[in-house]
Amino acid sequence: MKIIQGDITRLSCDAIVNAANSSLLGGGGVDGAIHRAAGPELLAECRTLHGCKTGEAKITKGYNLPSRFVIHTVGPVYYEHSPAESESLLAACYENSLKLAKENGLKTIAFPLISAGVYGYPQREAIKVAVETMKKHKNDFDETTLILFGDREYGFAKEDYPEFC
Ligand code: ADP
Repeated sequence: MKIIQGDITRLSCDAIVNAANSSLLGGGGVDGAIHRAAGPELLAECRTLHGCKTGEAKITKGYNLPSRFVIHTVGPVYYEHSPAESESLLAACYENSLKLAKENGLKTIAFPLISAGVYGYPQREAIKVAVETMKKHKNDFDETTLILFGDREYGFAKEDYPEFC
């Protein structure tokens, strides 16, 4: 298990996870970047999935991405829930994505920092939920990666989880 800094669309894993919105029809942030890099076939497959509920996950192929699959999960909008509810919904995103990866026999998976962009989850707390949930399942995979986009998030990770950075 490791924490790195970079762009998830450049990673070559069995699956990368997308922090999608409930329509699964594309958005900004990491979702927009993944759709741009995967090409229009990804959106076409997403249209057949009829959305996804907060905390749940669905899988598609990766198309033009270096990774074989994309697992789409919908994080909580932080201020629409109590902090405790947001935390359990966010943990469910990681749990359900890992479960889906396992069911599909996938061995390497990378996550962005779900909900910590426009959905407003405090970054440091989001890192904690990600790491604690990923840690529980790390033995089911050859490699689990948390990839952080910005210097600020990566700085938090280096302070709080130097053993993974
Ligand atoms: P959400 O709507 O779940 O908050 P965002 O896409 O707005 O999703 O942000 C989630 C996290 O993904 C943020 O920490 C953001 O900095 C990060 N991010 C944005 N683009 C990329 C990328 N290309 N690779 C990895 N992480 C990214």
